[in-house]
Amino acid sequence: MGEVRAKLRVTAGDRAALGRNRPSSTPGAPGDRDATEAAIPPLDEELSELQTRLWAEGRRSLLVVLQALDAGGKDGTIRHAFQGLNPQGTRVTAFKAPTPEELAHDFLWRVHQATPAAGEVGIFNRSHYEDVLVVRVHQLVPTKVWRARYGLIKGFEEALHEGGTTIVKLFLHISKEEQRRRFEERLTRPDKRWKFNRGDLEERAHWDDYQEAYAEALARTSTEAAAWYVVPADHKWYRNWAVTSILVETLRELDPRYPEVEGIDAMEIP
Ligand code: AMP
Ligand code: MG
Repeated sequence: MGEVRAKLRVTAGDRAALGRNRPSSTPGAPGDRDATEAAIPPLDEELSELQTRLWAEGRRSLLVVLQALDAGGKDGTIRHAFQGLNPQGTRVTAFKAPTPEELAHDFLWRVHQATPAAGEVGIFNRSHYEDVLVVRVHQLVPTKVWRARYGLIKGFEEALHEGGTTIVKLFLHISKEEQRRRFEERLTRPDKRWKFNRGDLEERAHWDDYQEAYAEALARTSTEAAAWYVVPADHKWYRNWAVTSILVETLRELDPRYPEVEGIDAMEIP
């Protein structure tokens, strides 16, 4: 396993995973902010090359699940950490509160439709995990129903894995203080105001409930087939480096190959 993954990976059953690295820590970083930022462009380049090979090979896929509390940096991660990805072959799906049609189906229905096809990289901005997080915190379904979902999620992810999809799940871990700073920025900066949402303040009041819901979800669903990583995310420069590193390490291990083309040596262009 790659170095960064080994440092941030959640061990199955570990309910204390959120406490292992502080949100402001920088495990494995090549140095201070400047040194870490300088390490990103070569990683972007390698990510791009690896993704091109995945696409050309056209047999396997990569699914990246992004979860975080509000202002945790999901959008910024998609903008910066996935810079090396080619839009062709990349599909980003954001999961909002379910529509009436989605609610009329089982909770995995909308998710399954958005999974990456062979050759693709799929990115989930929120995911089926909301169904054991926000749904649990606000008791949108009975306890018995969301409790059963840990097992259903594991089975679902295992089916994707068996079908050739590698799954990487990232929890962007910010501190409550950092969330306050980011909310304040949203209130005061004209270019950030559009992100401010009154509902986010209500959610902040449930901070401890969310920490508990995350701790349990990560412990119960970090598996061999689909591991969780807790990415300390108070420092955006560290978060971007760490996320890019995790993707590069994962794709290096997959080692996608350009396909052989039969008889190509004998071909002539008329
Ligand atoms: P945002 O990511 O800021 O656009 O917000 C999306 C909102 O949709 C968040 O408040 C989520 O908690 C909510 N959401 C996403 N999935 C679900 C779900 N399965 N059930 C209820 N709310 C959800
Ligand atoms: Mg939001």
